[in-house]
Amino acid sequence: MALKNEYLKGVYGSLEEKSGHEPEFLQAVREVLESLEPVVERRPELEKNGIIERLVEPERTVMFRVPWVDDSGKVWVNRGYRVQFNSAIGPYKGGLRLHPSVNLSIIKFLGFEQVFKNSLTTLPIGGGKGGSDFDPKGKSDGEIMRFCQSFMTELCRHIGPATDVPAGDIGVGGREIGYLFGQYKRLRNEYSGVLTGKGLTYGGSLARTEATGYGLCYFADEMLKAAGRSFVGANVVISGSGNVAIYANQKATALGAKVIAMSDSNGYIVDEKGIDYKVMKEIKEVRRERIKTYLNYVSTAKYVEGCKGIWTVPCDVALPCATQNELDEEGAKALVQNGCFAVAEGANMPSTPEAVAIFQSAGLLFAPAKAANAGGVATSALEMSQNSQRLSWTFEEVDAKLHGIMVSIYQNASKAAEEYGKPGDLVAGANIAGFLKVADAMLAQGIV
Ligand code: NDP
Repeated sequence: MALKNEYLKGVYGSLEEKSGHEPEFLQAVREVLESLEPVVERRPELEKNGIIERLVEPERTVMFRVPWVDDSGKVWVNRGYRVQFNSAIGPYKGGLRLHPSVNLSIIKFLGFEQVFKNSLTTLPIGGGKGGSDFDPKGKSDGEIMRFCQSFMTELCRHIGPATDVPAGDIGVGGREIGYLFGQYKRLRNEYSGVLTGKGLTYGGSLARTEATGYGLCYFADEMLKAAGRSFVGANVVISGSGNVAIYANQKATALGAKVIAMSDSNGYIVDEKGIDYKVMKEIKEVRRERIKTYLNYVSTAKYVEGCKGIWTVPCDVALPCATQNELDEEGAKALVQNGCFAVAEGANMPSTPEAVAIFQSAGLLFAPAKAANAGGVATSALEMSQNSQRLSWTFEEVDAKLHGIMVSIYQNASKAAEEYGKPGDLVAGANIAGFLKVADAMLAQGIV
């Protein structure tokens, strides 16, 4: 879709000139700006105050060297990032990603998305993101620890419980958060809620591990119900087999669906009898093995090499939960042809713009990531609240709050879509609802 509004066209054009080498970031910005056309037309003060120009420029970007020593004594150097995008409504909040594909464009796209997502949660958190091109696969615990300690040695200068509170993302789970937290505490001599996703013995919140996957299903459930559909009896395909995917499987199954396919970056497994999330948890969280080994535990499953083919498995509901741009035009066409009626994004920006256009024109129900996967960061904010109060809530309390937040995100996104003339378009609705709160806070705080 071409941008029509002159103001937005101008902002995007100059961003393209400055950031032409950052395709993922431009893709994320473009999608949001397309949704904001009716908003800037209704509210001229946004242009007068340069809100969009300020919104697309991070408040601060930190890039740094991360030297570490492997088990054989060899020195390696990776690149570390923290992009503090927007603090209009609260301290920067967003995960750390450890994956060889990490670069500035990917961290900026994730940080930009995080601003709107965090706003949608209704909680007081700004947007940021960070990470490194370090590859945790195949590394020993000692190597992971030394990398995390080196990473935090620099990062600790830029974060704090009232400044910036990182969390996990791809490649960063409980083990890594533990090492990062230990090093922060040692360097700053301070025991505070500076990271979320912590272990339960040192300030973590119950239900944080499950939150993104559960929240995705709570959101999808609302969307399905509003259309007279449901998870009951639905066949579900989930890409990925990490944190988000595993708990999406558990919750979708609990809501009456059958998860028939899951993947990792090497390939995918199919089991028409339903994939057991507990076996997947053991393989991925405990043994840290490849998904192929699922066949050693469950004889009815089949394995197919190559992860992209997962979208050709016929299903009713697709939950992409691996990584950005994993679901392209070809995958989208296959899903539509095979009768899929709903797609809800667990990963960040997993569908390409071409794939989203196919879903929308075929009339599929489509839940965009920044609304559908906001349950993780929402529960991180609940962890921050518990840390400030020096209290721990029960699993049921946190899960009930998460459920309430996901329902209200769905309602707010639907309402905004309707108010701005795009009923049923949750992409536009989520972008607009997330934007309005941040823009109003920026207007109130002057030119900063
Ligand atoms: P994990 O590291 O736990 O799992 C990632 C999964 O995706 C793995 O199965 C991995 O396979 C697969 N994957 C990663 N990169 C690629 C790639 N380039 N191609 C194909 N598959 C890939 O990460 P999470 O589950 O935490 O995160 C998954 C997605 O959800 C990300 O987009 C993340 O930003 C998003 N997200 C996560 C939240 C959270 O709370 N964890 C919150 C909100 C969003 P392999 O092991 O082979 O690499």
